[in-house]
Amino acid sequence: MGKEILDIIIIGAGPAGLTASLYAKRAMLDVLVIEKFCVGGQINLTERIENYPGFSNGIKSEQLVAQLQKQVTSIGVGIINDEVVQIVKREVDNLPAFKVITKNKKEYLSFSVIIATGAYPRPLGVKGEGELKGRGISYCAVCDGPLFRDKEVVVVGGGDKAAEEVLYLAKACKKVTLVHRRNQLRAAKILQDRIKAHKNIQLELEHIVTQIVGDTRVEALVLKNTKTLKEKKVSCDGVFIAIGNQPNTEFLKELVDLDEAGFIKTNSSLQTSVKGIFACGDVRVKHLRQVVTACGDGALASFMCQAYIELLGRE
Ligand code: NAP
Repeated sequence: MGKEILDIIIIGAGPAGLTASLYAKRAMLDVLVIEKFCVGGQINLTERIENYPGFSNGIKSEQLVAQLQKQVTSIGVGIINDEVVQIVKREVDNLPAFKVITKNKKEYLSFSVIIATGAYPRPLGVKGEGELKGRGISYCAVCDGPLFRDKEVVVVGGGDKAAEEVLYLAKACKKVTLVHRRNQLRAAKILQDRIKAHKNIQLELEHIVTQIVGDTRVEALVLKNTKTLKEKKVSCDGVFIAIGNQPNTEFLKELVDLDEAGFIKTNSSLQTSVKGIFACGDVRVKHLRQVVTACGDGALASFMCQAYIELLGRE
Protein backbone atom coordinates (compact mmCIF):
# COMPACT_ATOMS: atom_id res chain seq x y z
CA MET A 1 0.00 0.00 0.00
CA GLY A 2 1.42 3.39 -1.02
CA LYS A 3 2.61 5.98 1.46
CA GLU A 4 0.23 8.66 0.12
CA ILE A 5 -2.55 6.77 1.84
CA LEU A 6 -2.37 5.95 5.51
CA ASP A 7 -3.46 2.66 7.05
CA ILE A 8 -5.26 4.20 10.02
CA ILE A 9 -6.28 7.69 11.04
CA ILE A 10 -7.11 7.94 14.72
CA ILE A 11 -9.26 10.90 15.71
CA GLY A 12 -8.66 11.90 19.33
CA ALA A 13 -5.57 11.63 21.53
CA GLY A 14 -7.07 10.59 24.85
CA PRO A 15 -6.22 7.22 26.45
CA ALA A 16 -8.34 5.33 23.88
CA GLY A 17 -6.81 7.00 20.82
CA LEU A 18 -3.24 6.88 22.12
CA THR A 19 -3.54 3.19 23.04
CA ALA A 20 -4.96 2.48 19.58
CA SER A 21 -1.98 4.30 18.04
CA LEU A 22 0.46 2.31 20.20
CA TYR A 23 -0.95 -1.01 18.99
CA ALA A 24 -1.13 0.18 15.36
CA LYS A 25 2.44 1.45 15.29
CA ARG A 26 3.76 -1.72 16.92
CA ALA A 27 1.97 -3.62 14.12
CA MET A 28 4.06 -1.53 11.68
CA LEU A 29 1.06 0.31 10.23
CA ASP A 30 1.10 3.87 8.91
CA VAL A 31 -0.89 5.73 11.53
CA LEU A 32 -1.68 9.37 12.19
CA VAL A 33 -3.43 10.80 15.26
CA ILE A 34 -5.44 14.02 14.89
CA GLU A 35 -6.36 15.86 18.09
CA LYS A 36 -8.32 19.11 18.16
CA PHE A 37 -7.50 20.22 21.69
CA CYS A 38 -4.77 18.69 23.83
CA VAL A 39 -3.28 15.24 24.29
CA GLY A 40 -4.94 13.34 27.14
CA GLY A 41 -8.50 14.49 26.56
CA GLN A 42 -10.75 14.37 29.59
CA ILE A 43 -8.01 13.08 31.92
CA ASN A 44 -6.80 16.68 31.89
CA LEU A 45 -9.98 17.63 33.73
CA THR A 46 -9.13 15.47 36.71
CA GLU A 47 -6.31 15.68 39.25
CA ARG A 48 -5.44 12.11 40.02
CA ILE A 49 -6.35 8.65 38.69
CA GLU A 50 -6.73 6.16 41.53
CA ASN A 51 -8.28 3.21 39.74
CA TYR A 52 -5.83 2.66 36.91
CA PRO A 53 -4.20 -0.70 37.64
CA GLY A 54 -0.52 -0.79 38.53
CA PHE A 55 -0.27 2.43 40.53
CA SER A 56 -0.91 1.52 44.15
CA ASN A 57 -0.94 5.17 45.26
CA GLY A 58 -2.72 6.41 42.15
CA ILE A 59 -1.03 8.58 39.56
CA LYS A 60 -1.29 12.29 38.79
CA SER A 61 -3.32 12.72 35.63
CA GLU A 62 -0.68 14.93 34.02
CA GLN A 63 1.96 12.24 34.66
CA LEU A 64 -0.16 9.52 33.08
CA VAL A 65 -0.79 11.72 30.03
CA ALA A 66 2.91 12.58 29.73
CA GLN A 67 3.90 8.90 29.95
CA LEU A 68 1.30 7.86 27.38
CA GLN A 69 2.40 10.60 25.00
CA LYS A 70 6.08 9.71 25.45
CA GLN A 71 5.34 6.03 24.88
CA VAL A 72 3.66 6.60 21.51
CA THR A 73 5.82 9.41 20.17
CA SER A 74 9.01 7.52 21.05
CA ILE A 75 8.02 4.79 18.58
CA GLY A 76 7.16 7.33 15.88
CA VAL A 77 3.44 7.99 16.16
CA GLY A 78 2.65 11.39 14.65
CA ILE A 79 0.09 13.54 16.47
CA ILE A 80 -1.18 16.66 14.74
CA ASN A 81 -3.23 19.44 16.24
CA ASP A 82 -6.28 20.02 14.06
CA GLU A 83 -10.00 19.38 14.13
CA VAL A 84 -11.66 16.79 11.93
CA VAL A 85 -14.80 18.30 10.41
CA GLN A 86 -15.81 15.56 7.99
CA ILE A 87 -15.11 11.99 6.91
CA VAL A 88 -16.01 11.05 3.34
CA LYS A 89 -16.04 7.56 1.81
CA ARG A 90 -13.63 7.21 -1.14
CA GLU A 91 -12.26 4.48 -3.36
CA VAL A 92 -8.50 4.19 -3.84
CA ASP A 93 -7.17 1.59 -6.31
CA ASN A 94 -10.58 -0.11 -6.16
CA LEU A 95 -10.32 -0.41 -2.40
CA PRO A 96 -12.67 1.29 0.06
CA ALA A 97 -10.99 4.18 1.82
CA PHE A 98 -11.79 7.43 3.63
CA LYS A 99 -10.95 11.09 3.13
CA VAL A 100 -10.60 12.88 6.45
CA ILE A 101 -11.07 16.64 6.17
CA THR A 102 -9.93 19.06 8.88
CA LYS A 103 -10.79 22.59 9.97
CA ASN A 104 -7.41 23.78 8.67
CA LYS A 105 -8.55 22.56 5.23
CA LYS A 106 -6.14 19.61 5.19
CA GLU A 107 -7.22 16.31 3.65
CA TYR A 108 -5.85 12.90 4.61
CA LEU A 109 -6.53 9.58 2.93
CA SER A 110 -6.72 6.41 4.91
CA PHE A 111 -7.93 2.82 4.58
CA SER A 112 -9.52 2.92 8.02
CA VAL A 113 -10.50 5.33 10.77
CA ILE A 114 -10.67 4.91 14.53
CA ILE A 115 -12.87 7.46 16.26
CA ALA A 116 -11.71 8.16 19.81
CA THR A 117 -13.06 11.68 20.25
CA GLY A 118 -14.45 11.17 23.76
CA ALA A 119 -17.02 13.44 25.31
CA TYR A 120 -17.39 16.89 26.85
CA PRO A 121 -19.24 18.12 29.94
CA ARG A 122 -23.01 18.34 29.56
CA PRO A 123 -24.44 21.82 30.26
CA LEU A 124 -27.16 22.21 32.88
CA GLY A 125 -29.38 24.17 30.49
CA VAL A 126 -30.80 26.61 33.02
CA LYS A 127 -31.29 30.38 32.97
CA GLY A 128 -28.05 32.23 33.65
CA GLU A 129 -25.71 29.42 32.51
CA GLY A 130 -24.97 30.85 29.07
CA GLU A 131 -24.55 34.40 30.37
CA LEU A 132 -22.26 33.58 33.34
CA LYS A 133 -20.12 30.82 31.80
CA GLY A 134 -16.50 31.56 32.72
CA ARG A 135 -17.66 34.14 35.26
CA GLY A 136 -18.15 31.81 38.17
CA ILE A 137 -19.48 28.82 36.22
CA SER A 138 -17.02 26.03 35.54
CA TYR A 139 -17.04 22.44 34.29
CA CYS A 140 -13.61 21.54 35.69
CA ALA A 141 -12.48 21.92 39.30
CA VAL A 142 -8.85 21.10 38.52
CA CYS A 143 -8.79 23.85 35.89
CA ASP A 144 -10.67 26.57 37.78
CA GLY A 145 -10.78 25.46 41.44
CA PRO A 146 -7.73 27.51 42.50
CA LEU A 147 -9.69 30.70 41.64
CA PHE A 148 -12.10 29.89 44.47
CA ARG A 149 -9.69 29.56 47.41
CA ASP A 150 -11.52 30.36 50.70
CA LYS A 151 -14.75 30.92 48.76
CA GLU A 152 -18.11 29.15 48.86
CA VAL A 153 -18.95 27.01 45.86
CA VAL A 154 -21.63 24.58 44.69
CA VAL A 155 -21.10 21.38 42.71
CA VAL A 156 -24.05 19.98 40.75
CA GLY A 157 -24.26 16.24 40.03
CA GLY A 158 -24.21 12.89 41.79
CA GLY A 159 -21.72 10.74 39.85
CA ASP A 160 -18.00 10.01 40.23
CA LYS A 161 -17.07 13.24 38.54
CA ALA A 162 -19.18 15.40 40.88
CA ALA A 163 -17.79 13.53 43.90
CA GLU A 164 -14.22 14.08 42.73
CA GLU A 165 -14.91 17.75 42.06
CA VAL A 166 -16.33 18.19 45.56
CA LEU A 167 -13.36 16.48 47.20
CA TYR A 168 -10.87 18.50 45.18
CA LEU A 169 -12.59 21.81 45.97
CA ALA A 170 -13.02 21.00 49.67
CA LYS A 171 -9.23 21.18 50.08
CA ALA A 172 -9.14 24.91 49.32
CA CYS A 173 -12.67 26.30 49.50
CA LYS A 174 -14.35 27.52 52.66
CA LYS A 175 -17.53 25.59 51.93
CA VAL A 176 -18.63 23.21 49.18
CA THR A 177 -22.28 22.29 48.65
CA LEU A 178 -23.13 19.26 46.55
CA VAL A 179 -26.52 19.54 44.89
CA HIS A 180 -27.99 16.30 43.58
CA ARG A 181 -31.45 15.63 42.17
CA ARG A 182 -32.04 12.29 43.92
CA ASN A 183 -31.69 11.20 47.57
CA GLN A 184 -28.75 8.98 46.76
CA LEU A 185 -25.46 9.66 44.98
CA ARG A 186 -24.41 7.34 42.18
CA ALA A 187 -20.69 7.97 42.85
CA ALA A 188 -18.45 5.09 44.02
CA LYS A 189 -18.88 4.23 47.71
CA ILE A 190 -15.23 5.04 48.48
CA LEU A 191 -15.76 8.60 47.22
CA GLN A 192 -19.01 8.97 49.17
CA ASP A 193 -17.24 7.90 52.38
CA ARG A 194 -14.54 10.50 51.79
CA ILE A 195 -17.20 13.18 51.25
CA LYS A 196 -18.82 12.31 54.60
CA ALA A 197 -15.47 12.78 56.36
CA HIS A 198 -15.20 16.44 55.30
CA LYS A 199 -16.67 19.09 57.60
CA ASN A 200 -16.84 21.77 54.92
CA ILE A 201 -18.94 19.69 52.50
CA GLN A 202 -22.70 19.99 52.71
CA LEU A 203 -25.17 17.84 50.77
CA GLU A 204 -28.34 19.24 49.25
CA LEU A 205 -30.05 16.08 48.07
CA GLU A 206 -33.34 16.02 46.18
CA HIS A 207 -32.71 19.48 44.78
CA ILE A 208 -32.27 20.78 41.26
CA VAL A 209 -30.83 24.08 40.10
CA THR A 210 -33.45 26.15 38.31
CA GLN A 211 -31.44 29.34 37.82
CA ILE A 212 -27.94 30.71 38.17
CA VAL A 213 -28.14 34.28 39.43
CA GLY A 214 -25.61 37.08 39.07
CA ASP A 215 -25.02 40.44 37.49
CA THR A 216 -21.49 40.19 36.16
CA ARG A 217 -20.48 37.06 38.15
CA VAL A 218 -22.24 34.16 39.86
CA GLU A 219 -23.81 35.37 43.11
CA ALA A 220 -26.39 32.72 43.92
CA LEU A 221 -28.35 29.71 42.70
CA VAL A 222 -32.04 29.04 42.86
CA LEU A 223 -32.61 25.49 44.11
CA LYS A 224 -35.90 23.64 43.89
CA ASN A 225 -36.78 20.79 46.21
CA THR A 226 -37.90 17.91 43.99
CA LYS A 227 -40.37 16.65 46.63
CA THR A 228 -41.95 19.84 48.00
CA LEU A 229 -41.28 21.92 44.83
CA LYS A 230 -40.30 24.81 47.13
CA GLU A 231 -37.57 27.09 45.82
CA LYS A 232 -34.78 28.78 47.77
CA LYS A 233 -31.91 31.07 46.88
CA VAL A 234 -28.43 29.94 47.97
CA SER A 235 -25.53 32.41 47.83
CA CYS A 236 -22.26 31.18 46.37
CA ASP A 237 -19.17 32.45 44.59
CA GLY A 238 -19.06 29.75 41.98
CA VAL A 239 -20.77 26.68 40.56
CA PHE A 240 -19.16 23.57 39.13
CA ILE A 241 -21.39 21.54 36.82
CA ALA A 242 -20.70 17.79 36.69
CA ILE A 243 -23.83 16.12 35.35
CA GLY A 244 -22.30 13.76 32.82
CA ASN A 245 -20.95 14.04 29.33
CA GLN A 246 -22.02 14.46 25.75
CA PRO A 247 -20.13 12.71 22.96
CA ASN A 248 -18.01 14.58 20.43
CA THR A 249 -19.78 13.19 17.39
CA GLU A 250 -21.21 16.27 15.66
CA PHE A 251 -18.64 16.03 12.86
CA LEU A 252 -19.90 12.56 11.91
CA LYS A 253 -23.21 13.95 10.71
CA GLU A 254 -25.07 10.91 9.34
CA LEU A 255 -22.05 8.75 8.56
CA VAL A 256 -22.30 6.15 11.35
CA ASP A 257 -25.17 4.98 13.54
CA LEU A 258 -25.49 6.83 16.86
CA ASP A 259 -27.78 6.24 19.83
CA GLU A 260 -30.36 8.83 20.84
CA ALA A 261 -27.77 10.68 22.99
CA GLY A 262 -25.27 10.80 20.12
CA PHE A 263 -22.88 8.05 21.29
CA ILE A 264 -21.53 5.77 18.53
CA LYS A 265 -22.98 2.28 18.27
CA THR A 266 -20.36 -0.45 17.79
CA ASN A 267 -20.36 -4.23 17.55
CA SER A 268 -18.17 -6.47 19.73
CA SER A 269 -15.21 -5.79 17.39
CA LEU A 270 -15.74 -2.05 18.00
CA GLN A 271 -16.68 -1.59 14.36
CA THR A 272 -19.30 1.07 13.67
CA SER A 273 -22.14 0.70 11.16
CA VAL A 274 -19.59 1.59 8.45
CA LYS A 275 -16.99 -1.05 7.56
CA GLY A 276 -13.50 0.32 8.16
CA ILE A 277 -14.59 2.86 10.77
CA PHE A 278 -14.07 1.79 14.38
CA ALA A 279 -14.86 3.63 17.61
CA CYS A 280 -13.34 3.35 21.07
CA GLY A 281 -13.44 5.00 24.48
CA ASP A 282 -16.06 7.34 25.93
CA VAL A 283 -17.48 8.28 22.52
CA ARG A 284 -19.13 4.89 22.03
CA VAL A 285 -22.16 3.30 23.65
CA LYS A 286 -20.81 1.37 26.66
CA HIS A 287 -21.45 0.66 30.32
CA LEU A 288 -18.25 1.79 32.02
CA ARG A 289 -16.33 4.90 31.04
CA GLN A 290 -12.95 4.87 32.76
CA VAL A 291 -9.34 5.34 31.68
CA VAL A 292 -8.75 1.60 31.93
CA THR A 293 -11.75 0.73 29.75
CA ALA A 294 -10.75 3.42 27.24
CA CYS A 295 -7.29 1.84 26.96
CA GLY A 296 -8.81 -1.63 26.57
CA ASP A 297 -11.09 -0.29 23.85
CA GLY A 298 -8.16 1.37 22.08
CA ALA A 299 -6.21 -1.89 21.98
CA LEU A 300 -9.18 -3.87 20.66
CA ALA A 301 -10.22 -1.28 18.07
CA SER A 302 -6.65 -1.15 16.77
CA PHE A 303 -6.35 -4.94 16.66
CA MET A 304 -9.65 -5.36 14.78
CA CYS A 305 -8.69 -2.50 12.47
CA GLN A 306 -5.44 -4.30 11.63
CA ALA A 307 -7.41 -7.44 10.80
CA TYR A 308 -9.72 -5.36 8.58
CA ILE A 309 -6.77 -3.84 6.68
CA GLU A 310 -5.11 -7.22 6.18
CA LEU A 311 -8.27 -8.56 4.58
CA LEU A 312 -8.80 -5.49 2.37
CA GLY A 313 -8.86 -6.42 -1.27
CA ARG A 314 -8.75 -10.13 -0.47
CA GLU A 315 -12.44 -10.60 0.28
P1 NAP B 1 -22.53 10.19 35.35
O1 NAP B 1 -21.95 9.02 36.02
O2 NAP B 1 -23.37 10.01 34.13
O3 NAP B 1 -23.37 10.98 36.45
C1 NAP B 1 -24.08 12.13 36.11
C2 NAP B 1 -24.77 12.63 37.38
O4 NAP B 1 -25.41 13.85 37.07
C3 NAP B 1 -25.82 11.65 37.89
O5 NAP B 1 -25.77 11.61 39.29
C4 NAP B 1 -27.12 12.27 37.38
O6 NAP B 1 -28.20 12.06 38.28
C5 NAP B 1 -26.80 13.74 37.36
N1 NAP B 1 -27.53 14.44 36.31
C6 NAP B 1 -27.61 14.14 35.00
N2 NAP B 1 -28.34 15.05 34.34
C7 NAP B 1 -28.73 15.96 35.27
C8 NAP B 1 -29.49 17.15 35.21
N3 NAP B 1 -30.02 17.60 34.05
N4 NAP B 1 -29.70 17.83 36.35
C9 NAP B 1 -29.17 17.40 37.52
N5 NAP B 1 -28.43 16.29 37.63
C10 NAP B 1 -28.22 15.58 36.52
O7 NAP B 1 -21.42 11.28 34.89
P2 NAP B 1 -19.97 11.61 35.49
O8 NAP B 1 -19.98 11.63 36.96
O9 NAP B 1 -19.55 12.84 34.75
O10 NAP B 1 -19.10 10.42 34.98
C11 NAP B 1 -19.04 10.12 33.58
C12 NAP B 1 -18.34 8.78 33.41
O11 NAP B 1 -16.97 8.90 33.79
C13 NAP B 1 -18.96 7.71 34.31
O12 NAP B 1 -18.93 6.50 33.62
C14 NAP B 1 -18.04 7.69 35.49
O13 NAP B 1 -18.01 6.46 36.17
C15 NAP B 1 -16.70 8.02 34.85
N6 NAP B 1 -15.79 8.65 35.82
C16 NAP B 1 -15.02 7.83 36.57
C17 NAP B 1 -14.18 8.38 37.52
C18 NAP B 1 -13.34 7.45 38.35
O14 NAP B 1 -13.43 6.25 38.19
N7 NAP B 1 -12.52 7.94 39.25
C19 NAP B 1 -14.11 9.74 37.71
C20 NAP B 1 -14.94 10.58 36.94
C21 NAP B 1 -15.78 10.00 35.99
P3 NAP B 1 -28.84 10.61 38.52
O15 NAP B 1 -27.88 9.90 39.44
O16 NAP B 1 -30.15 10.94 39.14
O17 NAP B 1 -28.97 9.98 37.17
